Amino acid sequence: MSNANLTNTIWDVIVVGGGMVGSATALGLAQNGMRVLLLEKQAVDISWQADSPYQVRVSALTRASEKILKNLGAWQGIEDRRLHPFVAMHVWDEITPGEVHFSAQDMQEPNLGYTVENNVIQAALWEQAIACENITTLVDSKIEGLAFEDDQAWLSIEGIGILKTQLVVGADGAFSKIRQLANIGLDTHDYEQSAVVGCVKTELSHQDTCWQRYTSNGPFAYLSMGNNVSSIAWYLPTDKQQWALNLSDEEFAKEIAKASDYRLGQVVEVAERGAFPLVRRHAEHYVKPNLALVGDAAHTIHPQAGQGVNLGLLDAAALVETVLNAKQADKAWGSFSVLRKYERWRRGDNALVQRSMEGFDWLFKQDASLKAIIRKPLLPLANKLTWVKNWLMGQALNGREALPKLAKTLVKN
Ligand SMILES: Cc1cc2nc3c(=O)[nH]c(=O)nc-3n(C[C@H](O)[C@H](O)[C@H](O)COP(=O)(O)OP(=O)(O)OC[C@H]3O[C@@H](n4cnc5c(N)ncnc54)[C@H](O)[C@@H]3O)c2cc1C
Repeated sequence: MSNANLTNTIWDVIVVGGGMVGSATALGLAQNGMRVLLLEKQAVDISWQADSPYQVRVSALTRASEKILKNLGAWQGIEDRRLHPFVAMHVWDEITPGEVHFSAQDMQEPNLGYTVENNVIQAALWEQAIACENITTLVDSKIEGLAFEDDQAWLSIEGIGILKTQLVVGADGAFSKIRQLANIGLDTHDYEQSAVVGCVKTELSHQDTCWQRYTSNGPFAYLSMGNNVSSIAWYLPTDKQQWALNLSDEEFAKEIAKASDYRLGQVVEVAERGAFPLVRRHAEHYVKPNLALVGDAAHTIHPQAGQGVNLGLLDAAALVETVLNAKQADKAWGSFSVLRKYERWRRGDNALVQRSMEGFDWLFKQDASLKAIIRKPLLPLANKLTWVKNWLMGQALNGREALPKLAKTLVKN
């Protein structure tokens, strides 16, 4: 589309950020008749194939996310590339006895979720976005400014001009420029921890199980991927992050095996690794007139329970439903009163999950005697109470109450 056409159109919605959450939001709206412009600052590679090398960033997707991605028509693209169902989750502690085993079989579920590389999810969503005639994509775009005039948001883009819309959706990640330009404040908490991530091959099979060990440094996790391949999440105090990245492959393999208490034997191969400092962020507001934030632009969370993108996809589905309901009722979908419904729907749920992660972090981070006393009976007891285990896993897998339609009912397969 020419620059003149881009600036002459009044877009129903402009989504800024074409990551997993932004592209899902754009698709949900466009597949229901809205004219959407999807802006992304980096080119997106959709040619990603099943035999591509394993990527650093991996997400564990819940059933609710699976339904959203199926309903958006992106699941097939994920299956065609690469995904790995896991059927169990095993949790244990470095300093106290007892282990908790969650199993799909106990819950009469086919699996407890899927581990999928983030690039795979994004590529499958973009494949659909490119094929959708109501979506115009614009990559390599640089936002210069944001203003609000005449019940519209005006976005100024370098080399293009002013784009106008009734609703700007900020889906541009943890360091959201849209959030900053809209002057929305942020509540933050530094966990003083980094997650070192990447894929490794282990001597023993992961048995399609995610393994999580709590140590005095923080948790260590193996997320099952391909044949004896697991994605690791190794949580360390931030000042050890560089040390972990600088280790030779051989030293790194030894440290990983040690951190996992040799649960899958030795580590025999390591792939590219990366590290992410962990910060909880929560935007003071998710909405303003003609603006809404979704995904990491609105909140980031400790990744130990793998909930970040799952919460973001629920934001996307809730915002889509709120906007479509308003459109159907002939209401201005960019109005504050409409957008507040979305904020009320999602902010409390996201805050609850953030706080529960903080409780876990506090309980398992250090081995101070008081915490060890509290922890000691916890895992053996939790393992015995099957209904508690199944309830906890059911909440994580299927989501809590008031799920948006896209996450609840399967329309497409
Ligand atoms: C170590 C680690 C492990 C994790 N594991 C899990 C897990 O197992 N399960 C889970 O659910 N979550 C997990 N998460 C969280 C998950 O990765 C994030 O919640 C998720 O990536 C957020 O998606 P998003 O689309 O909101 O943001 P992002 O993935 O950050 O995407 C933002 C997009 O916006 C684009 N962008 C940025 N600025 C601009 C701009 N100015 N203009 C245009 N485009 C822009 C970016 O290029 C990017 O494509 C983990 C996080 C970490 C750090």
